Amino acid sequence: MKGFGFMVQKILDKAVAGTRITSDEALVLMERADLASLGRAALAVRQRMHPEKYATYVIDRNINYTNSCIADCDFCAFYRRPGDPEEYVLSRDELYAKIRELEAIGGTQILMQGGHHPYLKLSWYEELLHDIRTTFPAIHIHAFSPSEVVHFSHIFKMPVREVIQRLKAAGLHSIPGGGGEILVDRVRQIIAPKKAQTDDWLGVMNTAAQEGLKGSCTMVIGHFETLAERIEHLDRLRKSQDEFAPYSAFIVWTLQPKHTKLEGRVEAAGAFDYLRTLSIARLYLDNIPNIQSSWVTQGAKVGQLSFLHGCNDWGGLMMEENVVSQAGTVHHVQVDQMRVLTAELGLDLKKRNFFYEVIEEKGAA
Ligand code: SF4
Repeated sequence: MKGFGFMVQKILDKAVAGTRITSDEALVLMERADLASLGRAALAVRQRMHPEKYATYVIDRNINYTNSCIADCDFCAFYRRPGDPEEYVLSRDELYAKIRELEAIGGTQILMQGGHHPYLKLSWYEELLHDIRTTFPAIHIHAFSPSEVVHFSHIFKMPVREVIQRLKAAGLHSIPGGGGEILVDRVRQIIAPKKAQTDDWLGVMNTAAQEGLKGSCTMVIGHFETLAERIEHLDRLRKSQDEFAPYSAFIVWTLQPKHTKLEGRVEAAGAFDYLRTLSIARLYLDNIPNIQSSWVTQGAKVGQLSFLHGCNDWGGLMMEENVVSQAGTVHHVQVDQMRVLTAELGLDLKKRNFFYEVIEEKGAA
């Protein structure tokens, strides 16, 4: 009788050949496949989808314009409740200083997200975008996760589409896929019940795509999700991409529970789990072109290994990272180190823009 090994290999061969695998097959991989076989297949798929002999990166800066938040997510060590002495909203001077520093090192993009602030008006966000756009016309504004957009829709009593149209008119270029966590309501009800639920999150990304804004999508593993729910998450993203094509990239993160309400309640996923899940994502998401390495949570060495498990991009060489670092995980990679790690993979390193167009051949910062 043929065993699971045969079944696993058949599914891997199918994915490598470019035939779409089903969610049942992906679950077999989740439950049965070994890391080495998954890595080999994910690398083959990456090489088919990205025959170029280089990896890419972007220089961006995380800007968290406010930490004031009423969503109370259990896994978040970054936010402060309104009225907390450590609550802040960045002034224009603080914001501009950050973007000037970014431009000084050749940065091209800001990733601007914040808490669910209860009092800021839509006009405040519109002015913010307008001011950045006019003061720094070369900077790409990647801002406001779907959860924030849903929050805006609630507090401004305005349909999501209109919120997106207003933000786009004010200067927004694209929407980051933050807050995706696991797109299964059972899980979201446990870790972030006040935040956008699955259909809301997908609805924002699908609507944004219809309004001409691209974005990214994410997945956070290592909390209360089952393996089947990881596949369900990937399946929702694949269907959304089939229908509306909102995503230029996918990123899987491992939850950092330290200093959050989940500390002691969940065990952080390690490199083994990360690389297995990443490989399966590369095999399953046949319609999402780019996958970024999660070196911020995994460190440079595992970040490098992720290229052998399906990644083709280092993501942002971030000048600032507040959310993960508040949870006690701080990994930094300099561009020189990134170039060495990339060369060890047999690849060149090239700087890109948001649209994955190479803008600097040599990868110098
Ligand atoms: S993850 Fe975002 S929405 Fe949730 S508490 Fe933190 S800042 Fe607020």
